[in-house]
Amino acid sequence: MNPAPTPAPLVARVVPDLTGLDKQFDYLVPASLRDRIAVGSLVRVPLHGRRIGGWVVALGPPDEAMPVERLVEIAKFSSVGPSAAMLELARWAAMRWGAHRLRPFLVAASPPAMVVAVVVGGRSAVWAPCPHLHSVVVLDEHDESLQEERTPTWHARDVAIERAARAGAACVLVSPIPTATALRWAGDRVVEPSVSDAVAGWPFIDIFDRTDEEPWKRSLVSSALIRHLRDAGQRVVCVINTAGRARLLACRSCRALQRCARCDAAVSQSDDGRLLCRRCATIRPLVCQQCGSSAMAVVKPGVTRLREELEAAAGRPVVSVTGDTAELPIGDLYVGTEAVLHRVRGVDVVAFLDFDAELFAPRYRAAEQAMALLVRAGRLVGPRRGGGRVLVQTFAPQHEVLQAALFADPRRVAISELARRRLLGLPPFRALAAVEGAAAEEFVTATGLEYATTAKGALVRADTWEALGQALADTPRPKGSRLRVEVDPPRQ
Ligand SMILES: [Zn+2]
Ligand SMILES: [Zn+2]
Repeated sequence: MNPAPTPAPLVARVVPDLTGLDKQFDYLVPASLRDRIAVGSLVRVPLHGRRIGGWVVALGPPDEAMPVERLVEIAKFSSVGPSAAMLELARWAAMRWGAHRLRPFLVAASPPAMVVAVVVGGRSAVWAPCPHLHSVVVLDEHDESLQEERTPTWHARDVAIERAARAGAACVLVSPIPTATALRWAGDRVVEPSVSDAVAGWPFIDIFDRTDEEPWKRSLVSSALIRHLRDAGQRVVCVINTAGRARLLACRSCRALQRCARCDAAVSQSDDGRLLCRRCATIRPLVCQQCGSSAMAVVKPGVTRLREELEAAAGRPVVSVTGDTAELPIGDLYVGTEAVLHRVRGVDVVAFLDFDAELFAPRYRAAEQAMALLVRAGRLVGPRRGGGRVLVQTFAPQHEVLQAALFADPRRVAISELARRRLLGLPPFRALAAVEGAAAEEFVTATGLEYATTAKGALVRADTWEALGQALADTPRPKGSRLRVEVDPPRQ
């Protein structure tokens, strides 16, 4: 009897499940695990004297550069991981969002349990295992929570489109306000509700034109708002995206705008009354740097200051809510940053006190983001047949975002956005990324991409997402630089 021939050694390439470690390592697959380990498997491997989890991303014969004798063995098979197809999708995404980092995508593609029927969930659901994928439906395609905030800044809508295409499955994007990206992808495959259905779904939109008010009366607490505040039967939420007491202050005696002594940026007033530089974090007492006076006029008020003004105008208590508010106090009148729209329920009126800060924000997605705020407010107050009402204070009543909401016709925004973005070479027509950090300019120069410097680094641009991602992933990061690379940056 001949002994069974010894099989050729099998080597597994493993991505360790360690944050910040972007390397892959080779391990020998022991004979006992040969029939269990496949591409995608979750395993445990020894690394730097510890045992850690990881994913097998490739299997094959030994590499010539690394002799088998020097390889250590995989310690343990843990579980079945992402399929080979999902691994390929992860590789595509790692490049598409400008990094060669597979780990974030492998984490997303390795949920605790195997799923075989219908998968429903937030943005990570787009990575869920789902054999024989039939269709992918992305609800509220415009919702910003579909994009990962940490880098790589992948977007579930874009992953869904790619995954469905690879699997030969249908992809449906649903939104009351489709983004320019979705519309360009859809082309002529857009299905719209009837005009009457669209109108019925929206609340009443009241646009308060601030140019009608006398300049000395241009308080954010307008006469239109006061009517709602004083109506004891109404629950009202006021939104102003400025936390603290004030964003801008001027001295009452010498009229100097209050600036940072160190970096010259305009200072804000925090809840404790002191002046805070939002650029360099320098804090100083409430004293004018020109004349020493401590009497200040608020040029741009924040939530804390407005709460006092609103309470005085309403004659009933007003509760303030920001992203930091832990427990929501009970009340009928609220003022807060947009976080308040995620916290309060059962509301009659939402009032945007200074909507121009959203409409004219220096970000390429500002119009879509402003529109999304109106949709969120609309859902909070409900459709017009139930009396739902959104009050918008603005100096730009003819802005297409407001007209679109007023006429329940989001195409007004879509048409102008697509034209503007095509003209300016912005997504979805061209690909954009923000690079932040001290060595940003050195790095973007090395990518060979077109770029412009910004306060925090640089913006880079390419003709396609693939070309952009490839250049960003392939260019070595300068040593010791802690660069942040945001592909399709939501706030630029
Ligand atoms: Zn002064
Ligand atoms: Zn400063």
